[in-house]
Amino acid sequence: MKEIELTCKLGKELSEDEIRAAAIKALGASPREKVNWCLLRRSIDARTDVIYRYRIQVARASESLPQYHIPEYKDVSSAEPVIVVGSGPAGMFASLRLLMEGLKPVILERGRDVHKRKVDTALLSTKGIVNPDSNYCFGEGGAGTFSDGKLYTRSSKRGDIREVLHQLVSFGADPSILLDAHPHIGSDRLPVIVEKIRECIIQHGGEYHFDCRVTDISTLSDGNLRVSAESSLPGAGPTFFEARNVILATGHSARDIYEMFTRKGWELQAKGFALGVRVEHPQSLINKVRYHGKYQPFMPAAEYSFVTQVEGRGVFSFCMCPGGLLVPSSTAPGELVLNGMSNSGRNSKWANSGVVVSVEPEDLPEYSQHGPLALLRFQQDVERKMFEYTGSLKAPAQRMMDFCRRVPSENLPATSYHPGAVPAPLYDLLPENVALRLKLAFPQVGNKLIKGYYTNDALLLGVESRTSSPVRIPRDPDTLEHVRVPGLYPCGEGAGYSGGIVSSALDGIACAQKIAARQ
Ligand SMILES: Cc1cc2nc3c(=O)[nH]c(=O)nc-3n(C[C@H](O)[C@H](O)[C@H](O)COP(=O)(O)OP(=O)(O)OC[C@H]3O[C@@H](n4cnc5c(N)ncnc54)[C@H](O)[C@@H]3O)c2cc1C
Repeated sequence: MKEIELTCKLGKELSEDEIRAAAIKALGASPREKVNWCLLRRSIDARTDVIYRYRIQVARASESLPQYHIPEYKDVSSAEPVIVVGSGPAGMFASLRLLMEGLKPVILERGRDVHKRKVDTALLSTKGIVNPDSNYCFGEGGAGTFSDGKLYTRSSKRGDIREVLHQLVSFGADPSILLDAHPHIGSDRLPVIVEKIRECIIQHGGEYHFDCRVTDISTLSDGNLRVSAESSLPGAGPTFFEARNVILATGHSARDIYEMFTRKGWELQAKGFALGVRVEHPQSLINKVRYHGKYQPFMPAAEYSFVTQVEGRGVFSFCMCPGGLLVPSSTAPGELVLNGMSNSGRNSKWANSGVVVSVEPEDLPEYSQHGPLALLRFQQDVERKMFEYTGSLKAPAQRMMDFCRRVPSENLPATSYHPGAVPAPLYDLLPENVALRLKLAFPQVGNKLIKGYYTNDALLLGVESRTSSPVRIPRDPDTLEHVRVPGLYPCGEGAGYSGGIVSSALDGIACAQKIAARQ
């Protein structure tokens, strides 16, 4: 068995004859001998010509190639329940893993199902109405549902990524995600996949409870945990659930969960995160730069990413959405946060990305009185300041070069951000340490990393502040339980153990496996 690499021009597929000939050559086989092959990876290389680079595993016919099979889901109708708080990637993939382990997931989700959620996100974008339980972060499928659906992660050590990708394909994602180096699904396809995951969980005996916001967790004398939840429906009283194990996967925007921990005196830790702006360029400019002027309409919208250091802190691009749209991802009235998403075709006129600066607890001595919630309070203050400037979900915005020169933008280019943008002294609205580093970083990126990036055709909009959780819920590294509360598994991005769809899904799987191993 060997791995080989083949290339072909973008827009062409490798033919079976080409692969067979290369396999025969690599294996030293005779021209008529049968060979097996399996495509492992496909990436775009635009360094000289624009080509696909394929990694292919090849073997003689007598050797079989390793294949991945999704473990079977069991009927868990009468199995031991495990409460899963949150139906984001961490909660969904934890639940699927619980089915495989013969345990019954009982999912409590503060938001609404994916169809009703679409209505709420539309109201948010068009009318500025924020439903605090159903928005771009909260609701079925979590923050990943209306996203770009990028599926890459650097965290291959966290678990078997194949489990996540193969399950996504089994629920309707395009099989190309198994092959592409930078796979993505898109906001038009994700809701259907999320719905199919729910159907699978219910069919196998699991439960979903929507409009079920967890407000308290308490320990009982018999070792069980009691979870209290509230509904936003008028007149609905509290509901109570009990189980020995609870997976808490509420995401980085569930500030009320951190407040609950504080109230109860349960341990939390302040955690560094990153904050900055959303940057929007014309996609045509990014295509031109990244494909070195060789872009053709059949090629995928070009991506970029960069990391640089400015004045001792990382400045980096975050969650880049080629051919994407900017959306308001506020979770409460009076705050303004932007994020990016895209459809599967990635065919809008814009390329957007967060460009953010790392913020560490020691950078904010003035917030130290808030203890573990110091960075969360800082994040909240910046989001409120942005909202107060425009008094609505319109985003304060400045052209890139104007921002760096600290001069006002007289007018703004068109933007994909539906609520709209308002010319503003964005530099002065951002915390000084963040604004200064961004000002130094943009020309540097344009000069050294992405030629053409530093331009006044690029628009900066405030604020990108939900890059990861500013709080960690500490857990035992071996059992994954909270350091004080046995049976409680802080999980996913909100607990501070993942960032992005795939790594959150992997963390969910890891928590479910720990629970199963103790049965
Ligand atoms: C617009 C947007 C685009 C994004 N694009 C990408 C991308 O392309 N690729 C990528 O990898 N990542 C992307 N992300 C980030 C990604 O979505 C998150 O990293 C991921 O969803 C985190 O998974 P999670 O399950 O830990 O938490 P979440 O997805 O945040 O899920 C938490 C869930 O818990 C629920 N919840 C919260 N509080 C309570 C409560 N008290 N009671 C009951 N339920 C509660 C919420 O409603 C939510 O459903 C994007 C995020 C956004 C907002």
